[in-house]
Amino acid sequence: MRLILFGPPGVGKGTQAKLLAKEFGILHISTGDLLRAAVADGTELGRRAVPIIEKGHLVPDDIMIGIVREILSSPKTSNGFILDGFPRTLDQAKELTKLFRELNISGYKVVNIKVDDNEVIRRLSNRLVCENDGRIFNVGMDGINKTSACPLCGGRLIQRRDDQEATILLRLKIYHSTTAPVFDYYEKNCAVVTVNGAASIDIVNKEILAALKDVHR
Ligand code: AMP
Repeated sequence: MRLILFGPPGVGKGTQAKLLAKEFGILHISTGDLLRAAVADGTELGRRAVPIIEKGHLVPDDIMIGIVREILSSPKTSNGFILDGFPRTLDQAKELTKLFRELNISGYKVVNIKVDDNEVIRRLSNRLVCENDGRIFNVGMDGINKTSACPLCGGRLIQRRDDQEATILLRLKIYHSTTAPVFDYYEKNCAVVTVNGAASIDIVNKEILAALKDVHR
């Protein structure tokens, strides 16, 4: 199974990607997580990426394509993969198509998760991440508030710097101007399934699985 997960920031791509990766036994490739890991490790890539991520801008295409090329070329993806957060620009999408050709990767599907902007703003401004294990929580969910500890490991729950309101609005603007056209590109070029991301995690997951049933066989 080869999947590209598409949708605005905060739509739940990371959560759904983890579930789908488990379901199909495929590699979850989150470019945002890879960048944050590079930042945490203090690598050259991380140092370059920090100010870009914190301001809510996009990391340059050549860097992102290099990262994805390296992973897709590795045996870790032999069972399949789910791309989460890539491609985010038309150039990334076109380079990915070339890369798929070069690596003989075919039969991939695009899953588009949709929610409106107000819901994105509401979710991102309430999102907290466990500093220790990276799990995501929402204020108001299961009694979580801004001073709660991670209910699973006791780690500190923090707000991502790019989840502050001004940065959320900028990320949404960039999504509409730069990332949304990627969807039109895929609609013309391959199979796309669209699900409503406003439902619960479980329902969204079931809807995606049902929509993918044909590829599932
Ligand atoms: P995410 O966790 O997917 O929201 O990504 C966090 C941040 O990482 C984004 O706001 C961008 O700054 C950067 N990033 C992740 N994926 C990409 C990509 N495909 N192209 C450019 N920047 C990216």
